[in-house]
This record gives sequence, C-alpha cells and structure tokens, in this order.
Amino acid sequence: MPIEALLKELTRSMPRLETRLCEPLSAHTSLRIGGPADAMVFPKSAKELTQILSISRQIGEKPIVIGNGTNLLAPDEPLRRLVVKTQGGVSGCFAGDDGTITAESGTLLSSLASLALKNSLTGLEFAQGIPGTLGGALVMNAGAYGGEIGNLVHATVCLNEQGQINTLTGGEQDFSYRHSIYTDADKTILSCVLRLTPGNPEEISSKMEDYSLRRRASQPLELPSAGSAFKRPKTGYAAELIDRAGLKGKRVGGAQISDKHAGFIVNTGGATCADVLSLMDIVRETVYRISGISLEPEIRRMENG
Ligand SMILES: Cc1cc2nc3c(=O)[nH]c(=O)nc-3n(C[C@H](O)[C@H](O)[C@H](O)COP(=O)(O)OP(=O)(O)OC[C@H]3O[C@@H](n4cnc5c(N)ncnc54)[C@H](O)[C@@H]3O)c2cc1C
Repeated sequence: MPIEALLKELTRSMPRLETRLCEPLSAHTSLRIGGPADAMVFPKSAKELTQILSISRQIGEKPIVIGNGTNLLAPDEPLRRLVVKTQGGVSGCFAGDDGTITAESGTLLSSLASLALKNSLTGLEFAQGIPGTLGGALVMNAGAYGGEIGNLVHATVCLNEQGQINTLTGGEQDFSYRHSIYTDADKTILSCVLRLTPGNPEEISSKMEDYSLRRRASQPLELPSAGSAFKRPKTGYAAELIDRAGLKGKRVGGAQISDKHAGFIVNTGGATCADVLSLMDIVRETVYRISGISLEPEIRRMENG
C-alpha cells in the first residue's frame, strides 16, 4: 500500500512530524462533516511542507493539502489519502518596512488583517472575517465587501506540478472572481508576499468593525457551514435566486439552506456529505427550472482518487 510506504518514509525522515492515523475530517472542516482520513500530518513550516510533498512524490502518492477546511466538503466514507494541514503550523509571517506582508500559506487571514492593522497598513480589512488561511484564499481568490486577496498579491512561492519551487507574480496568477491559477492546477502554495498601502489605524479598525457587524447580522455564524455554497452567477446573486425559488429553510437530513442567508448551507446537527450533496442538487435543479441560471458550487470536495 503506497500510503503505508509513505507514512513509513515520513516517520523515518521526519521523526518529529505530527502524524495522526484514521483522523476524523469532521474535526478539520468548518461544516463539521467527514469520515476518517487514513492519515493526516501537521507540518510546522513551509520547509516541512515542501519535505512532505517531496517524499510523497518519490513514493508516488499525491496528498491533499488543506488550510483551515472552511471551504471544504469531506466524504462520509474513509478518505484513502494523506491529508496535510497547514493551518496551525505553516504560519510564519512578518511585515516589512516597505508596505509588504510576507506569510506562509497556513497563516489565518484574521492574523494577517491584525498584522496589517498593527503596522497601519490598509487593504486587508475585508479579510478579517474570512475564517480561512492565506493558501486557501489564494486558491479561491477569497474576497468580501469589494476586496479580493488577488488584488494584494505581489508574489507567491509554490511547488509546481514537477515538484519544483516557483515564484509567480502579478498576471501569471490569473486572478478572477473566486478563481486563480491555483484553483485547478496541481500547485502547492508555500508562501506569499502581499503589498498593502499605508493607512490610518483608526479608519482601518473601524472598517473591520463595520464588516464584522455586517457579517454577524447577515450570516448564520452560530452554525457550522462552509460560507457561500455557490458562486455568484454572471447575473444576480446566488442567495437571492435560492430565496426566490422558495428554498430558504429547505432541509435534507441535517443539512439546511440557512433561513438567515439562503447562500449558506448549514449543518443543523448530524448532517452528512450525502445530505449536503443532495441539497445542492435540489438547489441547482430548482433554481435552473425557475430562472434558467446554472449555479456553480463554491464549496470544494475532498475526494478519493
Ligand atoms: C462562516 C464563513 C464565512 C466565509 N466567508 C467568506 C467570504 O466572505 N469570502 C470568501 O471568499 N470566502 C468565505 N468563506 C469561505 C472560505 O473561508 C474561503 O474560501 C477561504 O479562503 C478558504 O480557506 P481555507 O484555508 O479554509 O481553505 P480550505 O477550505 O482548507 O481549502 C480550500 C481549497 O484550497 C486548497 N488549499 C488550501 N491550502 C492550500 C495550499 N497551501 N496550497 C494549495 N492548495 C491549498 C485546498 O486543497 C482546497 O481545494 C467563508 C467560510 C465560512 C465558514
């Protein structure tokens, strides 16, 4: 079994690496859904992350790298893969004296926003309430309240498809709405340099407070979710279309279209991956029938194979 060979090699080469077998993915996804992953590892730096991927490559295994699991739907059945979690370990970051912030991929966006505020840098206020990591944000081109991470990225260091370290800058990263070069390509983000603008700390702080109040007022933050389940279509808003289709509050098992924000699917208790997938199918079919608009999922699935 390649995964066993991989674990053996990881233990031999990286004896201090935290490794958990049969680890429930429900403990690592904000939806609180998911069966066990065969193995999960928790690197403590971008260097360790690189080492894990290089060893995996030699053994012929392709791990799944996750950040904070806040945009993920994990399967109910066991995931026969190695999962590498960056949040909590791969999180070194510092502010330069030239308006830049350099951070490893597992750094939480909230920590980056706080660091920006501490250094009187504006631009990251929108990111404070997004519960993911920098790596996850670059994959999703995460954004809110008119801001997007892609607009701030100066350079990103990643491992490419051949396992080589590359630095991508500007337009090479192909940022657009909830998309970037990292969305579909087999690249692992190691670290990134963001370029911000000098600002007034009181204004930065009050913008953050305003966004936070707006989030709390409009989003079901009291229940597990993965944020917006669907991307914004070319015309209109997913939440509005779902609401208009009469689906607010619709349930399948423990999964429900939030009655506070129709764009969110929440886990009301004991929801399974199958519940969420069938609810998403109902939403897509009903919205298409009523409005002729095809909704595209924003939530990403973790899958075997
Ligand atoms: C309550 C709530 C509110 C939210 N609000 C917003 C919002 O306002 N705007 C918004 O855009 N999103 C929002 N989200 C969704 C989510 O937080 C973002 O998409 C976030 O960027 C995901 O980051 P993550 O670290 O959790 O990524 P994960 O969910 O862990 O992973 C997302 C994808 O990125 C990949 N990935 C992660 N790290 C790396 C890496 N280092 N290298 C390569 N691939 C990697 C994973 O394999 C996966 O495919 C919200 C979610 C919740 C639960």
